[in-house]
Amino acid sequence: MNYCNQCGASVIRSIPEGDHLPRFVCSECHSIHYENPRIIAGCIPELDNKILLCRRAIEPKYGLWTLPAGFMENNETTLLAATRETMEEANITLESPSLFSIFSIPHISQVYMFYRGTINSAITGPGTESLEIALFSEAEIPWNDLAFPVVSETLKLYFEHQHNHDATFNGAIIKTNDQLITRFY
Ligand SMILES: [Zn+2]
Repeated sequence: MNYCNQCGASVIRSIPEGDHLPRFVCSECHSIHYENPRIIAGCIPELDNKILLCRRAIEPKYGLWTLPAGFMENNETTLLAATRETMEEANITLESPSLFSIFSIPHISQVYMFYRGTINSAITGPGTESLEIALFSEAEIPWNDLAFPVVSETLKLYFEHQHNHDATFNGAIIKTNDQLITRFY
């Protein structure tokens, strides 16, 4: 950030009085511009013991496979963000999606939330941000061509869960700093 979005003057990096971290502070109107972690919401679309993945048509990780997910917009819920991204990237809707996992990833200041749900619409083809979409069984998942570590980890937890628990389990797995913290509901 170079300029204040309130008055247009230049900003400086400094620790405001009473604070403990450096912030962008306006040199003229003294507005403090905080930077906070971003939330990425997505879905695990299920159908007949398979998972739908999207092959990315955009950078980063162009050409690699991912779960449909993206940055939340202001004024939307995490569930709406997840289902909106799933429609944008895969042109599908899900039946009653429920929260499956939360990954807190402090070193990149991101929080991922994935909802699982059964695909309840026709699968017609990829959205504009995907090259293709396809259904994969656990044995077919392209583990070496997944776009992000959080996608691999989510899928591993998902299949582990399918094996070790009731497949209809309606809970969430929370992971932070590489430690599984809790499961609930
Ligand atoms: Zn200003």
